[in-house]
Amino acid sequence: MIDSTKYQGQRRRLVKLLKEKGIQDKGVLDAMGRVPRHCFMDPGLEGYSYVDKAYPIAANQTISQPYTVAFQTQLMELKKGDCVLEIGTGSGYQTAVLLAIEGVKVYTIERQLELFKKTAMLFKKMRLNPKKVIFGDGYKGFPEKAPFDAIIVTAGAPKVPIPLMEQLAIGGRLVIPLGEEKQIMTRYVKTAQKAFDRQSFGTFKFVPLLKDKN
Ligand code: SAH
Repeated sequence: MIDSTKYQGQRRRLVKLLKEKGIQDKGVLDAMGRVPRHCFMDPGLEGYSYVDKAYPIAANQTISQPYTVAFQTQLMELKKGDCVLEIGTGSGYQTAVLLAIEGVKVYTIERQLELFKKTAMLFKKMRLNPKKVIFGDGYKGFPEKAPFDAIIVTAGAPKVPIPLMEQLAIGGRLVIPLGEEKQIMTRYVKTAQKAFDRQSFGTFKFVPLLKDKN
């Protein structure tokens, strides 16, 4: 996985743009400046790696727009020692940004076998170490390792999957784009067992969070 001065320069410009768009969290900006997005793009699209747009990846999915990745990560308010769950591994780019935040442990779930295999292999090649890449249905979360300090959903959900609410620690944050055609970025903070604060943060466009038939 080679970086280059050209890509480093493009990344610096991207970070500047993210600041102009309102991202302020230093840990997030630093992570965005370090993660080589070009390693997560499909072949042929590498040249667009530092353009602030979503691009197609395998299995009709997309690599999220850098601004969206930064925005969601900022809303997670991560701190050292946090254990987080990502729903929708996809290209692995958002996972890598989470891993670039100091002292954060990451579990990530993908339901498309092709992407799961491809991205798990890429993590190995890049020596990125999520705690576990899980092949499964994100609607169910990952009860084995709950509770989580933060959960991020990287696909548009028609409504909040209840298991994800249950798998949050007290004080934990769930960042989830809610809606069908377009989504409202929503954050739930668990204030006590079965009590949540809810806040909305503008409109985004995601591929859908898909339900398994079984
Ligand atoms: N975080 C990714 C975004 C990929 S797009 C990135 O930065 O590249 C959303 C991903 O969610 C897709 O890979 C899709 O296959 C996955 N997905 C959709 N429904 C899912 C579900 N129920 N469980 C787990 N993953 C799901």
